[in-house]
Amino acid sequence: MISALTIAQAHERLKSKSLSAVEIARACIERIESVDKSLNAVVHRNFDRALEEAKKADKKGAFDHPLAGIPYLAKDVFCEEGVATTACSNVLRNKDFVPPFDSTTTKRLNTVNAISMGKTNTDEFTMGASTETSCYGVTKNPWDQTRVAGGSSGGSAAAVAADECLFALGTDTGGSIRQPAGFCGCTGLKVTYGRTSRYGVLSMASSLDSIGVLTKTVEDAAIVLGTIAGKDPLDATTGDMPVPDYTQTLKSGVKGLKIGLPKEYFIKGMDPQVETAVREAAKVYASLGAKIVDVSLPHSPYAIATYYVIVPSEVSSNMARYDGVRFGHTVPERDSLIEYYERVRSSGFGDEVKRRIMIGTYALSAGYYDAYYRQAQKVRTLIKRDFEKAFEQVDCLLAPVAPTPAFKIGAHTGDPVQMYLEDIFTAPVNLAGIPGLSIPCGFSKENLPIGMQLLGPQWGEEVILRAGYAYEQATEWHEKKPTM
Ligand code: GLN
Repeated sequence: MISALTIAQAHERLKSKSLSAVEIARACIERIESVDKSLNAVVHRNFDRALEEAKKADKKGAFDHPLAGIPYLAKDVFCEEGVATTACSNVLRNKDFVPPFDSTTTKRLNTVNAISMGKTNTDEFTMGASTETSCYGVTKNPWDQTRVAGGSSGGSAAAVAADECLFALGTDTGGSIRQPAGFCGCTGLKVTYGRTSRYGVLSMASSLDSIGVLTKTVEDAAIVLGTIAGKDPLDATTGDMPVPDYTQTLKSGVKGLKIGLPKEYFIKGMDPQVETAVREAAKVYASLGAKIVDVSLPHSPYAIATYYVIVPSEVSSNMARYDGVRFGHTVPERDSLIEYYERVRSSGFGDEVKRRIMIGTYALSAGYYDAYYRQAQKVRTLIKRDFEKAFEQVDCLLAPVAPTPAFKIGAHTGDPVQMYLEDIFTAPVNLAGIPGLSIPCGFSKENLPIGMQLLGPQWGEEVILRAGYAYEQATEWHEKKPTM
């Protein structure tokens, strides 16, 4: 199946002219049309433009860049000029927000002639771990359609796993790339905070949001990262760090590499199948010549509480712009301005967004700022230091992505705290701002993918990609496909 090709494979075929960009785009479109009615991964389709762009790429014909002519989907928070962008929220959907500009990421992809095909489903404004808070309804897991695809980048993960595209863009504020990648059995890369530009991506929590990619292989993640990473004058939080050629260092193996297993990431209450799969992966690394070391990240137990003070605080501020005047849908009643805001926001936002606006407004209020927000910032520093100390001993860390494989649709909807606990292994990474790579490392007895994550020091994408690639070469988990 053409749409099942990896980026690297498709690039070879384009170069040798055994496939055209139009054929690849058509194959993806056909796949979306046949499987997405049930999956609900794709929420906006931009097929005519995609085919036109593919035609242009074929006409140019050089395919020098590995992403030239390669079709992708973007999570519905990436602005693309002239394409509806809604964050899967009624607040933008009802007014059909159409941005007049491109995000830096989609712009960089377009510059090398990658083909944008449309938008993928997400939790509303990326708040969630299951894609169930989307105004378009849940995305189903391609491995078992009674289960969630994870979230918030559930649409991107399901689309990659079901071969609806060759790669997809996502965002990760507390796990939203890594966890759905883990649930759907694909590769998910969350970069160092500031490695990629947030310009033109609708914000959730600005000090944690990071833009990344979901792919079929680690090599593909390295290819996309090399294209989208780097300083952006339009985002002052991007780092002025050189962007290495990740595809070059990928293949240097893990001999002598020190890999840490953080003891706080193997806890009571997690599915034993997840623990077994990750520990087996450590054995694979040992057999490849890496040294496995036990490490401790002692402040990990405070990460969820810290995250769920800082994130709602930033959310409450970022959501203020959706007031129905500048952004957001309009309502007819206009008696008083305050009443107008109330009506716009109460009819536009869903429950999870409202919950976070309330928690965040409370945590930031004059009387409670010191007790909650400032305290959380201090703990955040301790969590960051835990990682820094660990990276004095080891080159990277190996941990599970989530405590369980994909859960049933509806399993946590009535219990927000249960849903927040999904982020227990992923959120600390965003608080620290370091990179994480999620890759498949096994299957549960119900035939659901299990994911592991490799965590690296700040700006250390190279090492986790190298470690991920070595594991992928030694195992076959990433080659398994859901039957659809
Ligand atoms: N599940 C987390 C949350 O709800 C992570 C979301 C994300 O990374 N965008 O905040």
